[in-house]
Amino acid sequence: MTADTPKVVSPASLDQANSFGVSAQAAAALQVSRRDHFYHLHELPEYRSGPVMMLGGGSNILFAGDYPGLVIFNRLAGRQVLDATDKHAYVRLQAGENWHESVLWTLQQGLAGLENLSLIPGAVGAAPIQNVGAYGVELADVLDQVEVWDRQRQDWRMLNNKACAFGYRDSIFKRDPERYFVVNITVKLRVKPKLNLRYHGLRDELNAMGLSNPTPLDVSRAVCTIRRRKLPDPARIGNAGSFFKNPVVSPEQAARIGADYPQMPCFGQADGAIKLSAAWLIEQCGWKGYRDGDAGVSERHALVLVNHGCASGASLWDLAQRIRSSIHERFDIRLQPEPVVILPAAKTDTP
Ligand code: NAP
Repeated sequence: MTADTPKVVSPASLDQANSFGVSAQAAAALQVSRRDHFYHLHELPEYRSGPVMMLGGGSNILFAGDYPGLVIFNRLAGRQVLDATDKHAYVRLQAGENWHESVLWTLQQGLAGLENLSLIPGAVGAAPIQNVGAYGVELADVLDQVEVWDRQRQDWRMLNNKACAFGYRDSIFKRDPERYFVVNITVKLRVKPKLNLRYHGLRDELNAMGLSNPTPLDVSRAVCTIRRRKLPDPARIGNAGSFFKNPVVSPEQAARIGADYPQMPCFGQADGAIKLSAAWLIEQCGWKGYRDGDAGVSERHALVLVNHGCASGASLWDLAQRIRSSIHERFDIRLQPEPVVILPAAKTDTP
């Protein structure tokens, strides 16, 4: 080991490292704050022997149990406009930067494309993992490439948009969590904005603000206003944003459910499938505002599980399972969790 090998803390509390605010611990933890730290990781027995996980803001994870391996906190910092023409600019954002602050920074540079993704909690490094999306825009729409540390090759690698195999809240990083550490992302942004105001909630908010010809900054403000109104603030009440993905079903299944629930929201996809609103399904089953001890479902948004104070990760996971069962029983739909779930047996669950 050398002076450049990152320092390991063992064991390490994760209480402050997850936005659910549940109590958990890792067998060991370290911080990566310089690129060369990656070269030295293999010198550590904790890195070579056990499970390893990289964590940014901890805003998309539920620790239903302790983590038996090494947690690497990504603290790589920096934002840079790499290249600009009169139409586009390529912007590099290091993985440890805060996502929302980075969105605001790009807007301050006069660059558009990330405005709909304002106020999503967490770090830049987490954004490609679940292909963050909101108000009709997802990261895949603007992402140019992702630089990763490839654990298999023990080297840097640039993955282009296609290689990231993005899907709905999904990517190669989610499907193969052991292989890559996200180091930075490069996004291709617009100098001349092309706004996406497809979601009526966003258009309504801009109208309420009296803005008929909004700028990207206006869109960002409108998104922030809606999110602050609709979603509980993790700084006040523990949560990880949406807990379930919206289910995508066949037109036949949507029609079957729609026969009993004609008011059910349905969104047709390019491939003919139908996206349903998980929040609507959960609300129909009476879970909105439900509370069992300190584990609950937000009163503001049925898709958000909340920790009212001292809920354990296991009790939140148990609640999630009960919600899934009731949706399955009533609608024959299996909801999939959006966050990564660390189970007590150290099995990472993204079923
Ligand atoms: P909403 O506007 O009440 O709509 C409910 C659901 O219907 C959304 O989840 C959205 O799907 C879908 N939807 C609405 N309008 C649509 C359209 N024109 N075309 C296709 N699908 C449409 O949703 P909300 O809960 O307040 O959320 C607003 C946006 O913020 C959504 O895009 C949502 O994904 C995003 N959000 C993300 C998180 C997170 O933690 N990742 C948390 C809260 C909200 P989609 O979710 O597929 O967009």
